Amino acid sequence: MRTRFAPSPTGYLHLGHILAAKEAFGFGPCLLRIEDIDHTRCRPEYITAIYQDLHWLGFDWPLPVRVQSQHLEDYKAVIETLRARGLLYRCFKTRAQLAETPPAPLAPSDEKALLEDNAPFAWRLSIKKCRPLISAPLRYMDTNAYKTVAIETLSDIVLARKDIGTSYHIAVTHDDMAQNITHVVRGADFIDQTPYHVLLQHLMGWPTPAYHHHGLLLRNDGEKLSKRNLDTTIKSLRENSLTVAQVLDMASL
Ligand code: GLU
Repeated sequence: MRTRFAPSPTGYLHLGHILAAKEAFGFGPCLLRIEDIDHTRCRPEYITAIYQDLHWLGFDWPLPVRVQSQHLEDYKAVIETLRARGLLYRCFKTRAQLAETPPAPLAPSDEKALLEDNAPFAWRLSIKKCRPLISAPLRYMDTNAYKTVAIETLSDIVLARKDIGTSYHIAVTHDDMAQNITHVVRGADFIDQTPYHVLLQHLMGWPTPAYHHHGLLLRNDGEKLSKRNLDTTIKSLRENSLTVAQVLDMASL
């Protein structure tokens, strides 16, 4: 058995992350992975702070840590494989256009014109093209219960973003395979992503790990904790002289 804790260094770790770390590290042998593919939001000082905060709290992990920004070529190769199989299409639409109409492949002549204009595009997964490749229901374990991917409810997600050329979905499924992760333990806020990950694993011939989505720490007003709630960063709690035991206790449901 092997699981992982996979924070993104887009800010300082807060209590919500520590709840997730407790769930993952408490589940079984656990790797640490830094999910930093988004160079527009991730910063090296946040990676250093992740190591410091986790060590301070007593977490330990085998080395080397997998840092996703060092593996961008691997993610590009996955996208190329799916693209070569005709499962992806270019999407030139802006956010505003997508609010009006759903994404869809363009007619070749329209696409050619946009490419000649050097218009930026994302690569989206065509669920329609995936369907013939699914002969039996895609099943996976989610917290000790079998679930089935309801393919008809899935949409054409972006697999290669305009700005970074890859996506969370590609990097996370690739690395769960590359690191032989058997159990993915992560927050309930990822529950809707899992069917897409199971579909990608099927398309790529990768094993599907078991999933467990844990509950989320909510603020008093019922909102999810996030890096916008700066008062709950581990850095500030430590600077305010809270003890390790107190912080670990606060990171509980
Ligand atoms: N990188 C994600 C985060 O920062 C976790 C993704 C996952 O566990 O699949 O919350």
